[in-house]
Amino acid sequence: MEKEKIIIKELSQVKVLTPMMEQYRDVKMEHRDHILMYRLGDFYEMFFEDAVTASKVLELTLTSRECGDDKRAAMCGVPFFKSDEYIGKLVEKGYKVAICEQVEDPALAKGLVKRDVVRIVTPGTVTDSEHLQENCNNYLGSICFGEGEASLAFADISTGAVYATTLASDKDFGRMEAECASYTPKEVLLNCAEADAPRLCQFLRVRQGAYVTANRADLYDMNRARLSLRAVFGERAQSLTKATAVAAVGALLAYIKETQKVEPSFLKELNVYQSGQFMELDLATMRNLEITQNMRDKKEKGTLLWVLDRTCTAMGARALRSALRQPLCDVSAISHRQSAVAELYGNFLFREELKRQLSEILDIERLTARAVYGTANGKDLRSLADSLKPLPAVRALLSGVKSPTLMRLYDNMDPLEDLANLLDCALVDTPPFTIREGGIIRDGFSADVDTYRTIQKGGTDWMREIERKEIEETGIRTLKVGYNRVFGYYIEVTKSQIDQVPDRYVRKQTLANCERYITQELKEMESEVLGASDKLCALEYDLFCELRREVADRCADLQAVAAQIAELDFYRSLAEVAAENNYVCPEVDASNVIDVKEGRHPVVEKFVQDSYFVPNDTYLDVASNRMMLITGPNMAGKSTYMRQVALIVLMAQVGSFVPAKSARIGIADRIFTRVGASDDLASGQSTFMLEMTEVANILHHATKHSLVIYDEVGRGTSTYDGMSIARAVVEYTASPKIGARSLFATHYHELTDMEGVCEGVVNYHIAAKKRGEDIVFLRKIVRGATDDSYGIEVAKLAGVPSAVVKRARQVLSEIEQNASLPKAAPKVSAPAPDTFDMFAQLQKSEADEVADELRKADLNTLTPLEAMNLLFALKKKLST
Ligand code: ADP
Ligand code: MG
Repeated sequence: MEKEKIIIKELSQVKVLTPMMEQYRDVKMEHRDHILMYRLGDFYEMFFEDAVTASKVLELTLTSRECGDDKRAAMCGVPFFKSDEYIGKLVEKGYKVAICEQVEDPALAKGLVKRDVVRIVTPGTVTDSEHLQENCNNYLGSICFGEGEASLAFADISTGAVYATTLASDKDFGRMEAECASYTPKEVLLNCAEADAPRLCQFLRVRQGAYVTANRADLYDMNRARLSLRAVFGERAQSLTKATAVAAVGALLAYIKETQKVEPSFLKELNVYQSGQFMELDLATMRNLEITQNMRDKKEKGTLLWVLDRTCTAMGARALRSALRQPLCDVSAISHRQSAVAELYGNFLFREELKRQLSEILDIERLTARAVYGTANGKDLRSLADSLKPLPAVRALLSGVKSPTLMRLYDNMDPLEDLANLLDCALVDTPPFTIREGGIIRDGFSADVDTYRTIQKGGTDWMREIERKEIEETGIRTLKVGYNRVFGYYIEVTKSQIDQVPDRYVRKQTLANCERYITQELKEMESEVLGASDKLCALEYDLFCELRREVADRCADLQAVAAQIAELDFYRSLAEVAAENNYVCPEVDASNVIDVKEGRHPVVEKFVQDSYFVPNDTYLDVASNRMMLITGPNMAGKSTYMRQVALIVLMAQVGSFVPAKSARIGIADRIFTRVGASDDLASGQSTFMLEMTEVANILHHATKHSLVIYDEVGRGTSTYDGMSIARAVVEYTASPKIGARSLFATHYHELTDMEGVCEGVVNYHIAAKKRGEDIVFLRKIVRGATDDSYGIEVAKLAGVPSAVVKRARQVLSEIEQNASLPKAAPKVSAPAPDTFDMFAQLQKSEADEVADELRKADLNTLTPLEAMNLLFALKKKLST
C-alpha cells in the first residue's frame, strides 16, 4: 500500500519543487502580501499558506497537489467563472488578491506556459459590479503629510472620480478624520509609517472599516507624480498647487497602475477643493443628523438620504449621496441647482416620463470602467448598449426646458447613437458569461463569423446524411452517427451486429454493448467542423476585444454622458420628493439669518404619519437672536426640533426644497452638533469624555457663520458639574468669541436666567400641559422658559408602576418642603454683559476657595480627626 504523503502548509518547508511549483514560488515571492490565485485550467488555485487562509475565509475544502520532494502542497481552488464572487469575499474580509494568469498562448509555449500576475484586487480597487454597492462610491484614499501641511486625495476607480484637498496643518487629525469620513474610503495609502499617525490609522481601521496601507513613501515620489499627473490630467493637473497634493494624487495613480496593470487614464475630472467651498460636516454631525446612516443599525432606513433618494440610476444615487456629504456654500451654485429642481417640480408629466427613460439606464460609469480595465464581458457590453438606447429620448425630453441648468444639460448631452448602434449590431441579446467560447457576436455583423457558423451548423445535417448513407450501405439498421467532446465524431454499432461492419471502419472506442468507429470521410468532416468551431471562437473573441477597446477609447464621452444622467437624475429625485412631501423652495442668501415658517423634520414626519407632525417656526440671526435656549420635559420634542432646523439648513444648501411653509436660509459654513449620549466603546472613550471632546471641537472651530446644536450638554456628569459646564458653553458660544447661530436644549431650568444677561440668548420651551396627573405634549415651540420638567408625569406615561410614581411624588414634595435640601442648584452669578470675559473671573483664587470652605465648616460638630483632615485638605489646596 502506498504511504500517505505529508501535506505541507508552508511554502518555505519544501526544498525541491516541481517545475510548476517553482514558477509558483517565483510569482509568490513578488506577492508576499497577497493571496495568490494561480490559474490552472478552469480553476484558480491557491497553495500553501494562501490555501489555508482561503479555505477558512471562503469555506472551501482543503485538498493537496504534488509539489515535489515527494510531498504535497495544501491547495484549494475556485472555478474561474465564479472567481469574481470569491475574490470579492476575500477583499471584503480585508485581503488583497493577486490574479495570476497564463500570459502566453499554450500552443506556442515551449515547456511550461508562462504565467504572471495580471491584476491585484484590493479593497480600494475593486471594479467588478457584484462587490460594489451600486449607490455608493468605492473610494481609494491617499494622505500625504508634509511640512506644515497635509493633503488628502480620493479616487473611485470604478467611476473615475477624483477629489483632492489640502489642509493648512499636518496635525489637524480631527479635520483629516472628518474629511476621510465623508468619503468612507475602503483603503487608504499613507506616506508615513503607521506609528507616525496612530490615531488616524486606528480611526480609519476601526471606525471606517478601511484597509490601511501605510509606509508607502515609494508611491509618493514627486517626479513620478508630476509626470503621471500630466499624462492623465493634462493641463488640469495644474489645479494641484500644493506639493503634498501633487504627491497624494500621484500616489493614487501609481497605486492604481501597480494593481490594475493599466495606465490610470480612466480617471476623469480632477476636483481640487479648498476648505470653505463645501459646508464642512464633521463626523459627529454626520452621525447625529443621520444623514446617510441611522444611529440604530447604521443602515439607510430613517435617514435623510432615505427620504430624499428617489433616483432611478446608480449614478444618480451616488450623485445624491455625495451632494449630501458636501453641501454647497456658494449662493449662486445653490440657486443653479434650485432652478433645475423647480422646473421638474412644476411639471409632473415631464418628471414621470424622465423617470421612465432613466429607469432603463444601468451603471454606464462602472460598465465603462470595466471596459477600460479590460474586465468587461459580453453581458457588460450588452448592458452598456441597452443603457445607451434611452439617451436620445432623454435628450428629446429636455428640448423645451427653461431652467439654465437643464438647458446646459440639453446642449451638452451627446446621446452616443453611433456607439449604441455599433454595440447593438455587434452583440447578441443575451451574451454568455465567458468571452472565449463564442456565442457573443450577432449574426450579420461579420461575414467571417457567419461563414464559420454555417459550417458548424452544417455539421449536424451532415451527420444525419452520413448516417443515412452508412445504414444503406451496410444494412445495419441501428447504426448511429454521434459526437462527444472527448472522442469527436464516431459511428456506433451494437455488439450483436459488429460482424456486419465493413473493413473501412476503424475501431475507435469499445463500450459495454457497442463499438464506435471512424471512417475517412467522418475524419475529414470532423476536422472541418471542429476547425470552424475553434476559428469561430477565436474570431468572436477578437471581435469582442476590439469592441471593448472601442468602448474604452470612447471613455471620455461615456463618462460625460454618465455625469449628465447622474445630475439629471439627482434633480429629478429632489423634485419628486419635494412635490410628494409638500416642500418649498428656500430662499438662500448670505444674510446669516435662518427664518423658517412651519418647519418640519423630514424624517420624523414620515414616521408619525398616522398622527400629525406639528410644524414649528425658527428665527435665528447673529445679533439678538443668536441662541435659542430650549427647555421642556423629556419627550417634548426638543431633539427633534433642533435636528429639524439643522436638516432644513443642510437640505437648502444641497439645492433641495425643504419641509416648511417658507424658509430663508443664510448660508452656514459648518453645522456642528453635540447630540445625545451615545457610548462609543469601539474607540475606547467614555461617554462623558466623548461628549466633552465633541464640545471642545465645537468651541475651537465654530465661527459666526456656523450653525451649532447642543442637545443636553453636561448630562454625563454630576448635576452641578454638568450645569456649570452647560452654562459656560452657552456663554462662550453666544459671546462674540464665536457668536454662532445656535440651539441649546437643556433640562437645567436654571440656565434660563441667562436671557437678558447674556446677549443673544433667547428662551424657548416646547409646550406640554398637565391634565390632572397626566401630561399632554403639544409639540409647539413657544417663547419663554418653563419651570417644570414633568419628569414624574413622563415616568408615569412610560409605565413606571404606580406605587413608584406615587412614592416619587411624595419624595418630591418632601424635598420641596425641606429647606435643608437644596431645591435647585445654587445659581451662578451672571456676568455683566459688557465685561464678557468671565472665564478669567471663573478662575477664583485658591485663597477665596479656602476661605469659603472655612466659612462653611461647622466647628462645633467636627471631630478632632475630621478637623485634622480639613486642615490637611485646605493646606493642599493652597499649595497646588
Ligand atoms: P425630547 O428631546 O424633548 O426628549 P424628542 O425630540 O426625542 O423629545 O421627541 C420625542 C418624540 O416626540 C419623537 O420621537 C417624535 O415621535 C415626537 N415628536 C417630536 N416632535 C414632534 C412634532 N413636532 N410633531 C409630532 N411629533 C413629534
Ligand atoms: Mg432629547
